[in-house]
Amino acid sequence: VLFRSKENVIFGSESLYKEHEERIIMLGLLTEAIRENQFVVYYQPKYSFINSDVSGAEALIRWYHPNYGFIPPDNFIPFAEKVDLIHSITAMVITTVFSFSQQVNSISFSINLSGKDFENSTLLNHIDKMAKLYEVNPCRIIFEITESVMITNPTLALNNLIKLKEKGYKIHIDDFGTGYSSLNYLREFPFDAIKLDRTFISGIAYDARDLSIVRSIVSLGKAFSLGIVAEGVENNEQFELLKNMNCDEFQGYYYSKPLSGDQLIDFLRGQKK
Ligand code: C2E
Ligand code: CA
Ligand code: CA
Repeated sequence: VLFRSKENVIFGSESLYKEHEERIIMLGLLTEAIRENQFVVYYQPKYSFINSDVSGAEALIRWYHPNYGFIPPDNFIPFAEKVDLIHSITAMVITTVFSFSQQVNSISFSINLSGKDFENSTLLNHIDKMAKLYEVNPCRIIFEITESVMITNPTLALNNLIKLKEKGYKIHIDDFGTGYSSLNYLREFPFDAIKLDRTFISGIAYDARDLSIVRSIVSLGKAFSLGIVAEGVENNEQFELLKNMNCDEFQGYYYSKPLSGDQLIDFLRGQKK
């Protein structure tokens, strides 16, 4: 009951009290998880249609609680944003990925940022500090930002993104098409690529509407000189359709599931012929 779904919410004073109680428990668990570092960063390989080879990997956080086991990011990231614990989590992911990229220097790495991260002035300092410590070349790091980031505080987001771009980092717009996509953002924000959400990809092989949406987004991206990354590609039909559309990259189970650091190193070794 610690991680309730939306459908489970019951109204009434008793459940409100329970909800409050659960939030306090969750806050305690998450604080402890950060202190004891119960997190592991996984990496999902990305495939380049252009080079027919691995091009990068997206860092995806994993929480293994000693008693509750695996807790998926969708169950605690939104909570961590609400209670202002996301900063520590993001900082930890950045440190881990930057350090790992020193060891694995043949590919790029993507890191998910939350809108809340920009509200804390320490983010850019931390990035600078870690880049120096681990001798990271910024052009090999991609920050993924969702549309909601541009909506909640566009000025703050734009300022931060411009600073990151000036340092040489790449910016991808995540979950494109699921939020309040506005063509204005594409015009005003310094993005390098669009990430097509997997809700559109899942239907392209049998749903003409999904296929049209994906085709339109791809041509929209091309019109803005942006790269196109497809997310959640699970089978050969989807792969072929995206390849024929001149999509640039994809990630998904069809290529690889998210891997531990060691597994990624093995995976990259296997790719070399
Ligand atoms: P996202 O950024 O859209 O990440 C892609 C999600 O799709 C990942 O789920 C990945 O495991 C999953 N996925 C990849 N390929 C396939 C596929 O072929 N089929 C299916 N069904 N799923 C696929 P995951 O790891 O559970 O992460 C969920 C979300 O949690 C992420 O969505 C992201 O919004 C958030 N998240 C994960 N790690 C971090 C992090 O370090 N920081 C922040 N702020 N958010 C994170
Ligand atoms: Ca992402
Ligand atoms: Ca997504």
